[in-house]
Amino acid sequence: MPPRKRAATRPVAARRASTKVATDNTEPVDAAVLAPIGVLAPVDPILPPWESLGLLPDVMRAVTAAGYTVPTPIQAQAIPIAMRGGDVMGLAQTGTGKTAAFTLPIVNRLSGGPRRLRALILTPTRELCQQVDASFRKYGQFADVDVAPIYGGVAYEPQERALSTGVDVLVATPGRMIDHMERGNVSLDNLEVLVLDEADRMLDMGFAPQINRIVSGISPYRQTLLFSATMPPEVEALARKYLRRPTVVQVGRRSQAAHTVRHAVYPVPGSRKTALLVSLLQEHAMDSVLVFTRTKHGADRVVHGLQDASIEATAMHADKTQAQRNAALEAFRSGAIRVLVATDIAQRGLDISGISHVVNYDVPGQAEDYIHRIGRTGRAAQTGDAFTFMAPDEIAMVRTIERVLGNPIDRISMPGFDFG
Ligand code: ADP
Ligand code: MG
Repeated sequence: MPPRKRAATRPVAARRASTKVATDNTEPVDAAVLAPIGVLAPVDPILPPWESLGLLPDVMRAVTAAGYTVPTPIQAQAIPIAMRGGDVMGLAQTGTGKTAAFTLPIVNRLSGGPRRLRALILTPTRELCQQVDASFRKYGQFADVDVAPIYGGVAYEPQERALSTGVDVLVATPGRMIDHMERGNVSLDNLEVLVLDEADRMLDMGFAPQINRIVSGISPYRQTLLFSATMPPEVEALARKYLRRPTVVQVGRRSQAAHTVRHAVYPVPGSRKTALLVSLLQEHAMDSVLVFTRTKHGADRVVHGLQDASIEATAMHADKTQAQRNAALEAFRSGAIRVLVATDIAQRGLDISGISHVVNYDVPGQAEDYIHRIGRTGRAAQTGDAFTFMAPDEIAMVRTIERVLGNPIDRISMPGFDFG
């Protein structure tokens, strides 16, 4: 291969095109944003072969040399999206192969291209920085991709030399990266891909201001990939701030929990819904049930209906004072009250863990609300069931939700309640 020229700045238009998926607004409705942060990637239980991911031969050679027979689940899901230029939020525990999930698509993208700083990986620690650097060397060995590690506690000169020679990829800890930026050793003008690796740890270590500074110097037309083992609210906020229309790829604990959620649709006339709820609550071991209604008025009505049947319940919606909402939440959390009836708005952002069941008393008008509601159960609880009451005029909406989920939801016909 002839030596590569150090190229001039690539035009913005080209960079824009390279992140087309992330900026494209013309996707079909079914691919619209579903999860709180981004589109949830479909989970295929059968791992695809490496060959189906479309990596270049030089990249595949490195994969084969590494002895990886099949991609791990996070790799199988994240790599195709990253290769299309989309933003990815990858949630998976340690040891699930996240490094290759971002390294391979980056190597693939940079392979054979002009040598300039096109990808930056931010990592929390020196050790991680070294590991990711080694990973780029391993996967990039046949693809002519140059990488340099940048971390603190060591001399500046060798790093400065690497920076002035020119590399395709930097793997850096935030503090030392800023030092080099301040010294004018590095320019982020040509950056196309930013990776925030172990985002939760970076935030734990207090790197938020440094990350902010670094990212503010990078083109908004970049592709951003964020990986984290956990998703505390801080990571969610980080994702909202830096990712654009990301696809959320989650494997491991979170999605396993989500898998245990049993979805079911109960066909029932609207006028019989409260009776059905009472019947389910009386007959099943439903410890803590979050019931969703479309309206505040509806929430109050359900609470009264349950109270009439001697079932303790409380409502939470926008007409309640903050003190009332706190009290309702506290009673629910402590187990004093078994049923909390809420509107979508009221429950957003609340951490109500340990819910055993979610009941959609009304079918949500948006598929994304369905996903969001269901996300309430199966998160902390090991088992969580999600029941949706479907009146005849809600059949079409349930079909839409099923189409978006990519799966039909089981129908459960309760004798005496089904409208037939
Ligand atoms: P994470 O970042 O999720 O903690 P790593 O990317 O460090 O995990 O990978 C953990 C280990 O799994 C590493 O030793 C890596 O070499 C190995 N590994 C990664 N992908 C595969 C694969 N597809 N098949 C087999 N082993 C893999
Ligand atoms: Mg990792």
